[in-house]
Amino acid sequence: MEIFNVNHQLSAYLPIIFFIFGAFLGSFFNVIIHRIPNGKSIIHPASSCPHCHQPIKPYDNIPILSYLILRGKCRHCDAKISWRYPFVELLSGFLFVWCYYYVGLNLQLIPAIMLISMMLVITFIDIDKLIIPDKITFPGMLLGLSFSFLPGGLSIGESVIGLVVGGVILYLIALFGSMAFKKDAMGGGDIKLAAVIGAFLGWQGVLITLILSSLVGSLIGIFIIALSSNDNQQKSHTIPYGPFLALGSIIALFFGNDLIRWYADYLRGF
Ligand SMILES: [Zn+2]
Repeated sequence: MEIFNVNHQLSAYLPIIFFIFGAFLGSFFNVIIHRIPNGKSIIHPASSCPHCHQPIKPYDNIPILSYLILRGKCRHCDAKISWRYPFVELLSGFLFVWCYYYVGLNLQLIPAIMLISMMLVITFIDIDKLIIPDKITFPGMLLGLSFSFLPGGLSIGESVIGLVVGGVILYLIALFGSMAFKKDAMGGGDIKLAAVIGAFLGWQGVLITLILSSLVGSLIGIFIIALSSNDNQQKSHTIPYGPFLALGSIIALFFGNDLIRWYADYLRGF
């Protein structure tokens, strides 16, 4: 009974622990987002203010809280700190808690948290630079495949099929897209990202991701075109596809099985 009580008490704190864990990793994701596209080391040097180059002290580097305490300004030079830093930390914290609730406290939490972490980083790098770095996607494919050895998830065969299905479908879409529109609608980074998602979620998961991302992507695309006042403005809008794939994969991770079940019931209705 004693042990049960201890566990029970601990489990009440687990969402908070996951939030703090996610927020601290989110702080690290901010570093990765800014340094990986520039080819810089993610470990050295320690973070400094981009304006006055003063190193940021650990007590000024607490996720979310430091931004609030410093009121979004550097302690030394008063330069504005982007709201994106606490936003990424907050988002990461929430997604980790959500992950804990949906996946539960088991080994499948490791690939789920890994996938979410990569998707967060890729989303913001793609928004900033319109690239999805190979430095993330290639290790991501290997990780996705190797997680299939954990109990309770995909088999290695399902992971390989997912990787191939994701990559090949996006490759074909990119190929036909460039033939139809005479310009590259999708980059190699998107193809590799779909392969990563397939390796993590299997072929059903990556199909759900692709359907959701194209739905949301075209809605946002239509919205942006409708808001643009002239042709030139329309052409200058390059919308990165990576964030939609990332969003789709997180929905597929959490609700994929529900969506498949719902679709099977729907088909049975005919
Ligand atoms: Zn400063």
